[in-house]
Amino acid sequence: MSIKFAGLHHVTAIAGDPQENVDFYAGILGLRLVKKTVNFDDPGSYHLYYGDATGNPGTIMTFFSWPGAARGRTGTGQVSATSFSVPEDSLGYWTERLVEHGVRFAKPERRFDETVLAFEDHDGLAVEIVAGPGREEGEAWAGSPVPVEHAIRGIPGVTLSEQSGEVTENILTRLLGFEKAGEEDGRTRYLSTGSGGSFADVLALPEGAPGQTAVGTTHHVAWRAPDDETEEAWHEEIEARGLHVTPVLDRSYFHSIYFREPGGVLFEIATDPPGFAVDEDPDHLGESLKLPPWLERRRAEIERSLPPIHPPRERV
Ligand code: ZN
Repeated sequence: MSIKFAGLHHVTAIAGDPQENVDFYAGILGLRLVKKTVNFDDPGSYHLYYGDATGNPGTIMTFFSWPGAARGRTGTGQVSATSFSVPEDSLGYWTERLVEHGVRFAKPERRFDETVLAFEDHDGLAVEIVAGPGREEGEAWAGSPVPVEHAIRGIPGVTLSEQSGEVTENILTRLLGFEKAGEEDGRTRYLSTGSGGSFADVLALPEGAPGQTAVGTTHHVAWRAPDDETEEAWHEEIEARGLHVTPVLDRSYFHSIYFREPGGVLFEIATDPPGFAVDEDPDHLGESLKLPPWLERRRAEIERSLPPIHPPRERV
């Protein structure tokens, strides 16, 4: 059996200052802050989730915030860029918006029939806006500073930097059900065969230095499982391939397993249910600090240790 993913679920990266992170992703990029919680493995630090109007799988970007921590280095064995999709006609809007907010970006580049604007967030994390045909669908948030017609629709895929493209190709196609879709300028594109149609681009960099995971780098990428039963089946399949995989972990908003692909990138498989409305009114997502039941009794202590954050300041 080859695992059939329904596409990308979320990407998790590491930020420095949480307010700068909110200002960038909810402010400049106009995503909705759909959940304000803590890192369950380190409750003294924030875990912030951004997405579309309801935080649908495939639109979610999340951050562990480590204020004052050192910057990492992007390199091999890492997700080296996260793409955000916008409608084809919105490229001009985004070019102007980035200029207005003082975000420097590279010259727009054509890639697999789409146009890519590449830039970095406040912490140096590589982010791309991808504009192309068929990128109009989605549930954009009407409360965003970005008009709905130009809003980011989701995360169509990620770029993986690898020392050996072959090792990763093997895992993507033989285990994870991706199909090789094309090659361009040293970049190989794989598409998930499920309904999500996400891409994983692999850049093979045999001379590249390994990445160091810290502020401004990606921690992991998560792929979608439609339900717990499928996730269990995948757990068995990954184990049968001799890869180390964690038990199913309760992340409140989805259930997760993690394993490292042989090239070094940390992969997660996360279930679609239960989603972000499980502990909060959908009209007020992200407004108050949510804690899992086992951390509720430590709320006062946790709240004291977290720097306050407020909605993004519009700078222009
Ligand atoms: Zn995750």
